[in-house]
Amino acid sequence: MTSLYIHIPFCNRICTYCDFNKFLIKNQPVDTYIDCLIKELSTIPTDIDTLFIGGGTPTALNDQQLERLLKFIAQQFKIQQEFSMEANPDELTAAKIMIMKKYGVNRLSLGVQTFDNDLLKLLGRTHEEEDIRRAVDTAKALDIESVSIDLMYHLPTQSLEQVKLDLEKALALDIDHISSYSLILEPKTQFYNQYRKGMLQLPDETLAAEMYDYTIRRLAISAFQQYEISNFAKPGHESEHNKVYWQNREYYGAGAGSHGYVNGERYYNIAPVPHYIKAVQLGNAVKETHKVTREESMEEFMFLGLRMNEGISRWDFLQRYGTRIEKIFGDVLTKLEASELIVVTEDRIYMTAAGRMIGNDVFEEFLLSI
Ligand code: SF4
Repeated sequence: MTSLYIHIPFCNRICTYCDFNKFLIKNQPVDTYIDCLIKELSTIPTDIDTLFIGGGTPTALNDQQLERLLKFIAQQFKIQQEFSMEANPDELTAAKIMIMKKYGVNRLSLGVQTFDNDLLKLLGRTHEEEDIRRAVDTAKALDIESVSIDLMYHLPTQSLEQVKLDLEKALALDIDHISSYSLILEPKTQFYNQYRKGMLQLPDETLAAEMYDYTIRRLAISAFQQYEISNFAKPGHESEHNKVYWQNREYYGAGAGSHGYVNGERYYNIAPVPHYIKAVQLGNAVKETHKVTREESMEEFMFLGLRMNEGISRWDFLQRYGTRIEKIFGDVLTKLEASELIVVTEDRIYMTAAGRMIGNDVFEEFLLSI
């Protein structure tokens, strides 16, 4: 059994902060792209635990394109557990949800980011606050089992009060999963260029930490357990697909720019759409492969696993690598435990709340090659 990620690299507008592999959908060879996806998907094992269609924006596809892709997936794969799709609120029509439902999608992940219309405009999003409520209500009315929304904090000009208001509005939707990500300025984005020219003011680090801390506390009193640095769920609604990544398990990836991890090897597909199409037509979309070394795998096991509140199991480490965790990371564990950034018990190792606040610094400690 394995997992599968499918990438739809098209969007109706390009957001100012986005560095994903995505292209404006206008004039793109979308039908040919779906032909190629179908060809690529035909080579992947059919017993699947979790499947995630992301992007880009899968809801940028028109109804016919969406149906063609989902119909193929439903015929081709036996999906045991979770079938998720990303969606933009303004593109998520009742017709699209009905198509998704018909072919087994049981979880929707909505790119909300904020309820503040001025901030949405600044982010370059195509939706407004009202679209969010309509999309969630429609998904619920049409019996989609689980609805998640993505929020962002540390946005230009954003105040703590705005973050608080976003959380109240998110909670009022009565959904079962919330992701909350800090804005990261990525090179080659509009925001990054504006920031470098001094045209963009971001909340300082102290305020960003307050926003994060408030988010954790507010969601905890509304039955949303934090289970990963940026993810919160009501019981039974964690993202099973994302847990595959954090537990460093293997998965397939299909589509332009997607990546996979199969038989100890990571692979990366060609990213530009025309090149991807040509490569699939010639029989292979993979641009690059990398055999993960034992050392790299141990590092990844630690810093991906520690992202989750439950942390990592010492037993899993021993089983995977045939050696006790102390033998490899003994000094690091002692140092981080003494700094109260991690907790070490008989069976598990996990980060403290203080550790999660500076997660990247903690993860760096596990790099064996430094
Ligand atoms: S954030 Fe999402 S919707 Fe916006 S450009 Fe990136 S992939 Fe497209």
